[in-house]
Amino acid sequence: MDYSILVNKSNPIANSYFDNLSLVECLDIDGNKISVEKTAYNMYINLSAYLKTKNIFIEIASAYRSIEEQQEIIDEFTKKYGVDYVSKYTAPIRTSEHHTGLAIDLALIVDGVKICENEDLLKYEDIFFEIHQSLSDYGFILRYPKGKEDITGYGYEPWHIRYVGKELAKYLYKNNLTLEEYVEKQLTKVIIFDWGGVIMHRDPVENNDKQAIIRVIKSFNPTLSDDEAWNVYLNSLIDENGIYISQQCDEVSKAKWVERLNNLGNFNASLQEFSEKFSAEYLSVGYYSDLIDYIYSLKDKCQIGLFSDLIYGCTPALNKQLDLSKFDNVWLSYQTGLRKNTLDAFILIENDLLVSPENILFIDDSTVNIMNAKKRGWQTCQAFGYEIDKIKASVTDFLNNR
Ligand SMILES: [Zn+2]
Repeated sequence: MDYSILVNKSNPIANSYFDNLSLVECLDIDGNKISVEKTAYNMYINLSAYLKTKNIFIEIASAYRSIEEQQEIIDEFTKKYGVDYVSKYTAPIRTSEHHTGLAIDLALIVDGVKICENEDLLKYEDIFFEIHQSLSDYGFILRYPKGKEDITGYGYEPWHIRYVGKELAKYLYKNNLTLEEYVEKQLTKVIIFDWGGVIMHRDPVENNDKQAIIRVIKSFNPTLSDDEAWNVYLNSLIDENGIYISQQCDEVSKAKWVERLNNLGNFNASLQEFSEKFSAEYLSVGYYSDLIDYIYSLKDKCQIGLFSDLIYGCTPALNKQLDLSKFDNVWLSYQTGLRKNTLDAFILIENDLLVSPENILFIDDSTVNIMNAKKRGWQTCQAFGYEIDKIKASVTDFLNNR
């Protein structure tokens, strides 16, 4: 049973859906026999019991509708409210979500009085506000919310709730997404680019980021060799407790990191001096603008993301090279606290995107990073930014294989 099924004016329900539909019979507010999908009904009962504890009394006005019944409703509402109303509040046959058995139109009992008519229900906005806040705990969503009329194709219906399962309901509620937006997002492929090495030079013969770091360290202690300076940097990144101290944003961690650099490199730089030098050297590092143009050009074909292990001092260089607002998603290690050498960094991205792993293409120059992405089932392309033809070929391949 697919609880995330989307039925709307562009997605009519298929006959095959009904083969797996298991309905239970129950009574509507007027005592008429009606049907609801089994799990949705059990969860509705739990929701109703919870709301009772808050002195809110809900009943079912309408739930599962066969294709024939939807036709009868259209005829009845046309007589009662007219054609304009029907086109706004009812669906043509096969496009009604009520065919799924997962949609319930709520009625209210307020002070012992049944409230069933749409125009009456609209007056109880405060009660519906309470109901809507509890829906996701029971796997329901408010299907046609205010402000999303253009996306759902329906006017605001506070009474129409839809069972999608708890996990998805929570996700949609938290992210203020409709089912339409979610399904669209699900279908989209995502290409995620690394920064250092792919966008910024890490070619040994160019002015690359490693050399920038060596220059920073040596500017504070010129007696160090290149290798020594590089090791000072590497050893400073993780503190004695194994924490990636260089990746934290808070002032205490920043100060601690610079203190660690000072001790390891035998120099005495303030955080400000270090940050300024760091930013300045990074700003001088080259990058592949042809690749960046290519990345932006992908925006109408898929989502694009940036995933980088970097420290906060790199931000001016990052902003010089890229327009981060053009990316659909950006994960920076100093913000997430997770580096690509842990699978957790990849799991975080999966949770943000909610796309299946094979719909993610990850482009990075590091073998370790590529291996972690593969472990998660992502598509990968190991390349440096100067290997633009290799990157383009993998992107074309990825986008063409649905
Ligand atoms: Zn409805």
